[in-house]
Amino acid sequence: MDTHRNDSETSYPEEGAEIWGSIERIETPEDYINSLRGRNLTVYFMGEKIFEPVDHPIIRPSVNAMAETFQIALDKPDLATAPSPYADTRVSRFLHIVESADDLVQKGRMQRELGQRTGTCFQRCVGMDALNALHSVTYDMDEAYKTDYHGRFLHFLGQVQTRNQVIGGAMTDAKGDRSKPPHQQADPDLYLHISDRNEDGVFVTGAKFHQTGCLNSHWLIVMPTIRLGEDDKDYAIVGAIPAHADGITYINGRQSCDTRAMEPGDIDAGNAQFAGQEAIIVFDNVFIPNHRIFMDGEFEFAATLVERFTTYHRCSYICKSGVGDVLIGATAEIADLNGVGNVSHIKDKLVEMTHLNETIRSSALASAHEAKPLASGAWMNDDMLANVCKQNVTRFPYEISRLAQDIAGGLMVTMPSEQDLENPETGPLLEKYLAGKDSATVKDRMKILRLIENMTLGRNAVNYLTESMHGAGSPQAQRIQIARGMDIEGKRKLARKIANTET
Ligand code: SF4
Ligand code: FE
Repeated sequence: MDTHRNDSETSYPEEGAEIWGSIERIETPEDYINSLRGRNLTVYFMGEKIFEPVDHPIIRPSVNAMAETFQIALDKPDLATAPSPYADTRVSRFLHIVESADDLVQKGRMQRELGQRTGTCFQRCVGMDALNALHSVTYDMDEAYKTDYHGRFLHFLGQVQTRNQVIGGAMTDAKGDRSKPPHQQADPDLYLHISDRNEDGVFVTGAKFHQTGCLNSHWLIVMPTIRLGEDDKDYAIVGAIPAHADGITYINGRQSCDTRAMEPGDIDAGNAQFAGQEAIIVFDNVFIPNHRIFMDGEFEFAATLVERFTTYHRCSYICKSGVGDVLIGATAEIADLNGVGNVSHIKDKLVEMTHLNETIRSSALASAHEAKPLASGAWMNDDMLANVCKQNVTRFPYEISRLAQDIAGGLMVTMPSEQDLENPETGPLLEKYLAGKDSATVKDRMKILRLIENMTLGRNAVNYLTESMHGAGSPQAQRIQIARGMDIEGKRKLARKIANTET
């Protein structure tokens, strides 16, 4: 591990309260939630400007899910924190640079547990994987060009680790005409690019899509999303920007069934406490000072950055095995409440769901165990197995969901609302006719059915299903990587040798 913290010739400014806020170090979920308030973000949601997103009933469950990343650090410091050479304290694993295969295994175990705790996307992995990719890419750029990106990056990292802040990794551009590179787009802003510069830094304009947890982040790190050529130099920009910087507008995405969070009661929400979050971020001439720029024009390193980021992030999808545990549990629970918990085909379907779910976990942990060090000292998990993990994730949650819906039965989608259960006319009718096994209450049956609905076609299906399909690259992106690494020639040679063929 390259441990130099401030040994560069350059001295970097200590940034003040306008950037860091009044909370010196975020320790608890409450500290974290308070740190999000009063930032005056420009956020639009469902046609309206939202003044304090953290207190919006539809947004709050996503804040709660992110807050759980702070709770787990208190509950299980050995799992969720680690010593760092860049800070004087143990740091959140979400801000830690991995120093061994074991670090990556621990990371995966933590992510699975957070999936189990929340039943959704807890949003903090994108920043973790971006930091790790940047550790080695800034190092490699400095080696190639004698630039100072790595020193700048480590300075930034040390401050963020010390304050225990949340980093949002902003990679996916709007992309426009997918057949054209950035510089050939009819509108140059369809990929984020340098729109102006002065001696103190650069200004960037463009938009980033599908930005997981961005409203819940303190920092955004913008990064290119594809391989770039010489003509795309202005698009080769990486830098850290406070999430509340001037010129940023967030347009929060809506999710299936999200307005249930505005209704009285919490049964129909399915998972009232936790949800994911994705937004479009629009950057209109947003300033990045020199000391927070980690790539500026080195277009040939864009592909390396994207590849390293996706290698880390495709392994991070072990999170879905934790979410899958919740869905398998809900399925077993509803089978029991329905009185069919001991039926053999139900048990067999639960085995099938578990097999699929554990296959996701096994590929992620295998990728972590096979990690290797990079020149910067950071370790990176195995690329092939990370792609296999993510490819599994594009498929198995759908099959697990199909089996969950099979076992849950049609009532999951035809069931009346919580308000009907509370209504004096219809409530007693529902109590009578929604009865299941003797010991089961109608309310509990409804809660579990709504949870399965939430995860397979409601709010959290956004991240358990479609985000599993497209996050960290759509299925074909993994197949391209698998094709690159599969060494089909080597395998043919093995076959020819054993068969003793003549050509
Ligand atoms: Fe983390 Fe999973 Fe959410 Fe990605 S989808 S940010 S890996 S929890
Ligand atoms: Fe993701």
